[in-house]
Formats: sequence, C-alpha cells, structure tokens
Amino acid sequence: MELNPSATVFRSWAAAETDALVVVTGTGLDPRISWVNRACAELLAYAPQELVGLPLSTLRRSPLRRGSAPPDGQPIVDPVRTVERTLVCERRDGSPVRLTARSLPVVSGGEPSWVLRLQPETDHARVQDELYAAHERFRSLSERAPIGIFTSESGLRLGYVNDWFCHLVGARADQLLGTDWMGFLHPDDLLPTQQALGRVLAGADVELPLRLQRTDGETCHVQARVVPVTTDGRGAGFLGTLEDVTQRLAWERTMTHQALHDPLTGLPNRRQLLETITARLSAADPEQRATALLFLDLDDFKHVNDSLGHPAGDRVLEAFSERLLGAVRGHDLVARFGGDEFAVMCPGIGDPATAEDVAERLRQQVSDPLVVDGVEVTVAASIGVVVVDRTHSTAEQVLRDADIALYQAKAAGKGQCALFDEEHRRQASERLLLAGELKRAVQEDQLTVVYQPVVSVPAALVRADGRGTVSVEALCRWEHPERGPVSPEVFVGLAEQNGAIVDLGLSVLRTACRQMMLWRDELGELAPAAVSVNVSPVQLHRPDFVDSVAQVLVDTGLPGSALTLELTESVLMADPEAAAAAFRSLRSLGIRVAIDDFGTGYSSLALLRTLPLDQLKIDRSFLRDLGRAGDDPIVGAVVALAGSLGLVTIAEGVETIEQLAELERLGCPLAQGFLISRPVPPEQVSRMLRAAALAERADLGALIPTGRRSVERRVSA
Ligand code: C2E
Ligand code: CA
Ligand code: CA
Repeated sequence: MELNPSATVFRSWAAAETDALVVVTGTGLDPRISWVNRACAELLAYAPQELVGLPLSTLRRSPLRRGSAPPDGQPIVDPVRTVERTLVCERRDGSPVRLTARSLPVVSGGEPSWVLRLQPETDHARVQDELYAAHERFRSLSERAPIGIFTSESGLRLGYVNDWFCHLVGARADQLLGTDWMGFLHPDDLLPTQQALGRVLAGADVELPLRLQRTDGETCHVQARVVPVTTDGRGAGFLGTLEDVTQRLAWERTMTHQALHDPLTGLPNRRQLLETITARLSAADPEQRATALLFLDLDDFKHVNDSLGHPAGDRVLEAFSERLLGAVRGHDLVARFGGDEFAVMCPGIGDPATAEDVAERLRQQVSDPLVVDGVEVTVAASIGVVVVDRTHSTAEQVLRDADIALYQAKAAGKGQCALFDEEHRRQASERLLLAGELKRAVQEDQLTVVYQPVVSVPAALVRADGRGTVSVEALCRWEHPERGPVSPEVFVGLAEQNGAIVDLGLSVLRTACRQMMLWRDELGELAPAAVSVNVSPVQLHRPDFVDSVAQVLVDTGLPGSALTLELTESVLMADPEAAAAAFRSLRSLGIRVAIDDFGTGYSSLALLRTLPLDQLKIDRSFLRDLGRAGDDPIVGAVVALAGSLGLVTIAEGVETIEQLAELERLGCPLAQGFLISRPVPPEQVSRMLRAAALAERADLGALIPTGRRSVERRVSA
C-alpha cells in the first residue's frame, strides 16, 4: 500500500493520534522536519509551525552544549528499514526529554521521507533502581521499627516478620516463618481476631486490641492494625502491625486509679462517687435507681489536727475510713471527699426511713473512741442523708442535697443524722439568696450598729437603769428591706461562710470607734470608757487584721485603751500560738482582749493562763438558773479562777434582779443583759447615760439608802 504523507487521509489520522508523530524528509544523515502532529509539538513544547523546516538534529541535545548528554552518532533513519533509537531531545525551554524514536521509511515518489513516532521513555533501569532502593529503605525501616510488622497469607501462615514481631512473641524469625500466628493469641481474643480478619479479607482496614501470650508466659498487650494485601502469584493476605501498649495500659490504669481514689485512705474519691451515682441515676428501672447517699463529716476534726498534729490527724482519718468500711454492707461504696468528709452510697435503699436507720446505725458504730499514737480520740460524725428521688437528674444534685442535710445535722448539734427534705432545700436556697443580699448590704453600708451597756454589778443593783455603765458592746443589725430585721446569729454565720465578715467586721469596728469619739465630745466624762467589738475568727486569721484595727484607731482618733475586742473560744483552740501572737500585738496598741461566750467551747482555764487576755464573758447559758436554784458552782468557780488569773469577768444575759444579786454575791464585777438595757441605738445610749447620771445625782442628793435595800425592795415586789 502506498502512503502519501501529504495526503489528507494521513494527516487527519496522524493529527488525531495521541503519540507524537513527525514526518522528516531529505537525503543525507540529517533530514528536515516537514510535518508534526499536535502531540509532537506538545511533547517538545514548540508551536507546530516552529518545528517545520528544522533539521532533525536541532532537536537532539547537543553533546557540546550539555556535556552530560551521551554522544550519539547513530542515524535515526534508514532508507529501507525501521529503526528504533533512544534519543535525548531538548524541548524549546532547554529541558531534556528521553525518547524512543521509531522511524519508518515512507515510500513516495519524491525525496525520501520517514514517519517518526516519538515516545517518552520510561527508564526501566532507573525504575528498577528506585524500586530496589525503596524496598531496601522499607526493609531496614521495618526491621528496626519498634513495632511488630508481619505479613501473612490468608491461610494465616507468616510470610514475613520483623525483629520487633519476634521480640513481642518471644521467638526467632526462623521459628515463626511459615507457621500460624493465631497460636500466640490469648484464647479470649481468638474469635474477635478471626472475625476481624474476615473483614480484612473483604477489603477493610481493621484495628483491634489484642493480648499476645509470649513464649515466656508473659502477656503482652498490643494494638493490632491489619490491612489486606494482594500479591501477584501468591493471592490474598494481610499486612499487619502490632504496637506494644502494655506499658501505656499499665500507666493509664495507674492514672485512672489515681484520678478516682483518695491517696491517703485509698478510698474512691469524689469523682468516682459522682460517676457511680451517675451510672445509677441513668437506670430506667426504679429498683436499679434506688440509692441512698450518706454524707459524713467528722465533728471538731480540726481540734484533732490542731492538738495532735497533722500526721496523727491523717492516722485518725485512715482508722476512721477502715472503721467505716467495716460498718457498711459489701456493695455499699465508701468514698472520701478530702478533709474530714466521707460519703457512703447505699445501692438498693429507696426508702427514707430505712436510709435513716442505716445512717443512725453507722453513726453509732463509727463514734467509739479511736486510739492513735496511744491517745484516745473521740470521733463523732454528723451525717446528712438523702434518698434519690425523681427530683434528682444529676449526681451533683444528689450530692448537693446530701450536703444540705449535713448542714442541718450540724445545725441540730453535733453527732446527729438529718434526712434531707424539701424544706431543707428551700432553706438552703434561702441561705444562698440571703448571703448574696448580705454581701450587697455590707457594700452599700446598709448595716447599723446598736450598743448594749456593760455595768458594774453593785451600781446596777442600786437601780438597773444604765448607771455604773463602764462600757458598751457594739452589736450589728441588718434591717432587710423586705424580710425585716435578720438575726445576727443568722447573718454573721452567712458572712463568715462567704467572706463578707471581713468587711462587715471592719465596718462595725469603724462605726463603733467613730461613735465613741462622738460620745466623748457630746457626753464628756459621762461617755462610756470603752466599746467592745466582736471579732470573728475569720477576721483574726487574716494576716492584715492587726494592721487594719490599728488603722481604724488612727483614722478615728480613738485611743486603743478605749477599745475591747471580743473573740470566742474557738479562736484559741484552732491555733493558740497564732492567737496569742495576735493578742499581744493588739495589747501593744492598748486594746483589751475579751473571751466571749466562755464555757461553750472547749478551752480550759489552764489554756487561758498562758494567753494575754483581759476579760472573760461568761455565756448566758450559765446564768439561766442562777439565783433560782440557789448556788451555781460553775459561775462561782469561773469568777474565782478568772480573778486569780487577773481577768475581769463579765456575766452576759442578765435578765433578772435575782441573777444580778447572785452575781454580786459570787463577786462577779460586771454584767450585761436585758435587765439593764437591750442593745439600743447610739442616741438612746446618750439619753440613758444622761438620765442615769441625773438620777444618780438626785439619789445622792436624797441620800437614798444603799443598793442592798433596793434589791430587797425589788425582790419582794
Ligand atoms: P454575743 O457577742 O454573745 O452578743 C450578745 C448577744 O446576747 C446579743 O445578741 C445580745 O442582744 C444578746 N443579749 C444580751 N443580753 C441578753 C439577755 O439578757 N438575754 C438574752 N436572751 N440575750 C441577750 P445579738 O445582738 O443577737 O448577737 C448575737 C451574736 O451575733 C453575738 O453574740 C455575736 O456573736 C454576733 N454578732 C453581733 N454583732 C456582731 C459583729 O459586729 N461582729 C461579729 N463578728 N459578730 C457579731
Ligand atoms: Ca460579744
Ligand atoms: Ca457572748
């Protein structure tokens, strides 16, 4: 068949051809390009018309221009034969391209012509090299990788294992190759593995945790990842990696344990308790959901720590937790919340009465004294009890209610159990609300101060009308805009809890000192000689407390000698040395220090002896029967002992003339109480002091007989 290269048929065929085609024409060794198709122009990055007319050699990379190009003297065309050559050609931009050129002589009438088919060459040798290099890289990577790598066929015989795989199972490669690796699996992992491999064979990548049983008997935890591979001639199989996660799992277990347990007692902690309660709450079945939670708090544990030291305190907690564990049922969960707070979760108890019984029994069982370091320690616990009901949707809510019940138990006196009820919740949210309002009231200066006179007992016996007033006690008042007056017993406690007491106390102190200055101006020598201000332990524990008091004295101009600070016994117990240091600093400012509510705490007279104190205020509970049941040994003893320690005694809460008479008999020098005056606003104090002075003068003028007779008159009246 004769083919004319200029024929339209050829051109239209060749133009559409995806291989690069060139037609060259000419005699000699270097024919010229007479036609190219689009594929050729694209391959060489020329426009087609640029190539036409160029000698074929133009395209060949010149050994002179690029020293690296191989010299190539071989002809590309032959008059009669098909020739195939490898050429390095140059694109228009100078970049080389390696081609296979196949020339075919074209039979035509005119000059000799050839059709050349140019194919960019894949360099087999180079590809081979690269493949080999890649394989080597993979092999050394795989061999040294700290991860087990294996291939196996679908029959599960091992085709390849790396060193780490051998290390994981504890066998040599030659012992492993060709054998089945299922034998190394923990029996429980066999079925899941077989199922997983089924999925791999179906084409999926699979990841699963496995346990390998090493030849030395140890168990090794691995994370296995298996992917399907198909090898020509060898069929389907797996490529797998095994990551040793034994240490990671052990570490995770330790971390989880630590995160969920209390380090001192080893008991589950708050988090674990919350998680367990959450799990129970999620149960749909009411029986599965029934749970009681007991929230325990050791009474006065602080005293144990303070008096025996923290290491002994820790041992008390350990002993207590053991006792608690011994007292509960097997499936109850005992948790420690930190500090002296514990919780017992009782599954299956859905009835409040039963829960209360359990709590009461527990309270009794844990309340026997413990012996720690040879010292007998009484540990009583208060218990708040809550039974999970429909109102609880989260563990936090259960805990909150148990906490509220605990608060009630403590408020009812120590060593008690209290069952949570709706009323408690209402009171708790009320407290919360009130605490917030109190904070605002303190900031906005809405609190006022009233004053109660402290009088000399003999003078009051003449007439308990404020005569013989030696000082006044400043007492804080809060008139709530909607609720009316709120008792200081309530709001002082709240302020101590939310920290507002610091500002509150300072504000009362400032007001009282300022008022003293006003009285001094107004009343002269009739003014009270001193004002007593109550100080909360929270205030005293602040490092800047003494400085802030000194600052108030400076600001108001009141001498320290006209100020007494009253502190309750609990301050002494918590940290006697710190208290003593603070007292000494206060006294160096001339301030007197009084122990308030004496007899209600646990301080001993022996402790008082070591502290720099001035006054003792006997709590009014000791005065209740005074003068009625005749002798009261306690008041008498306190007055006598206080006197021997150089302390002045003040009897608080004197309500009857009989009590006053009895106090005089016992030698108590000072008294305070409703009999003489309720706490009153400052103007009323002024009026009372003026009137008392006038009356005294009038009495003196009329030479009224002495007090004793006046008492007799009143008692008989
Ligand atoms: P307290 O320091 O023991 O104050 C004496 C309390 O006894 C006052 O109660 C007073 O009104 C009351 N009282 C006085 N005489 C009699 C009496 O003859 N019979 C009876 N039944 N009660 C009498 P008040 O004012 O309700 O204060 C209660 C407590 O609140 C105070 O006890 C004190 O601990 C605390 N408090 C009051 N104001 C302040 C303050 O400014 N700061 C601090 N930290 N606590 C304060
Ligand atoms: Ca007081
Ligand atoms: Ca008191």
